[in-house]
Amino acid sequence: MGKSPLARDTKEEIKMIDEVILCKYGEIVLKGQNRRNFESMLVKELRRRACPHGIFKIYYNQSTIYVEPQNDECDMDGMSETAKHIFGIIGVNRAKACEKNMESIIATAKEYLPAKLVGKKTFKVDARRSDKAFPLTSPEISRDVGAAVLEATGGRMRVDVKNPDVVITVEVRDTQAYIRAGQEAGAGGLPIRSAGRGLLMLSGGIDSPVAGCMMAKRGLEIEALHFESFPYTSERAREKVMQLAEEMCEFCGRMYVHVISLTHIQEELRDNCEEDYFTILLRIFMMRLAERCARDYKCHALITGESLGQVASQTLAAIEVTDSVANMPVFRPCIGLDKNEIIIQARKFGTFETSILPFEDCCTVFTPRHPKTQPRIDDVMRELAKVDVEALLDEAYATMTTEIKVVYEGYR
Ligand code: ATP
Ligand code: MG
Repeated sequence: MGKSPLARDTKEEIKMIDEVILCKYGEIVLKGQNRRNFESMLVKELRRRACPHGIFKIYYNQSTIYVEPQNDECDMDGMSETAKHIFGIIGVNRAKACEKNMESIIATAKEYLPAKLVGKKTFKVDARRSDKAFPLTSPEISRDVGAAVLEATGGRMRVDVKNPDVVITVEVRDTQAYIRAGQEAGAGGLPIRSAGRGLLMLSGGIDSPVAGCMMAKRGLEIEALHFESFPYTSERAREKVMQLAEEMCEFCGRMYVHVISLTHIQEELRDNCEEDYFTILLRIFMMRLAERCARDYKCHALITGESLGQVASQTLAAIEVTDSVANMPVFRPCIGLDKNEIIIQARKFGTFETSILPFEDCCTVFTPRHPKTQPRIDDVMRELAKVDVEALLDEAYATMTTEIKVVYEGYR
């Protein structure tokens, strides 16, 4: 097998570089034959998002992705933050590279680490050598670097191997050694697009953006579908959804957002069907339209922000009815979460503040006073038969418009 262009050619001449970012990945390590694909996906993802932060050389080697600034103008803080939003990466480490000999390692540790250890009282050194020909063993490297740190911090710090404030890591790799203090958590999960594509039913609420980000974390590329009901819902409500989609791009990369009008469907339901069934009937239309959109845009699952029992349309009986009209997997990652738990996720994914802006959703148009919480499928189908379902679906689908949302220009 030829070497991937995204992997480093180890024979290449090594240029001495200053601080670098080492990205560590988690589950991908278990992926056997597919591992290289996953590594390439992560490298591409980092390259797409690197542009605003300067010129970086990005490649993988020995279970690590190296992000090396190519000049002094590079924004290392910005690049580290960006790397923390990339699913598949579990640790983002600023590290100092040095020559692979103890003299250089000790000198670099003394010069680089004190500033990184401000405010910390205890440490331990964890040394690893992937180069087994290195003359010292890992415990010996740890011992010598530990002594150097004690000296460089002037007795301010002490060693605690059980519960240190900070772990100093020394990695002796095939071409250089790397020294760092601590590790910043990455987003975890699997690289975006590694699991295919799903269609998120995106409302302006708190739950559906979280649901989309949770599935993106498991490797799904997310495309979104929003239903509006103009003039019952406003232009501002649509803008809010577009803003949410853009915020999700921090984690999801880029996103196509489709918008379909439900106005006529809702008016037909209001004029022809029993009020108590409005909500469940509307959800049937939403699922049917979402499935059609998913098939046209090669998405293989639907994603919703439903949480069991949250509202009338999310009782088990209601979900059983809406599920019965979908002929593809429906993922509901929030199903077992309380509202508070969903809010914690929404804050983490950065969508909460926009989600709570007060704009109406089509689900709140013509809301029944007593929505059926225990709908029977026969009764629902009887009500549904009072409107021309297929004609309404075709008409609504024809209103679909599509926009693309990107945060990083590298995605265009
Ligand atoms: P959210 O908090 O995400 O807005 P919700 O609490 O308002 O959801 P429902 O109105 O019952 O709950 O909607 C359940 C799910 O149906 C949403 O999470 C979303 O996936 C989908 N959904 C609701 N309204 C819309 C809409 N206008 N466009 C697209 N999908 C929608
Ligand atoms: Mg909800």
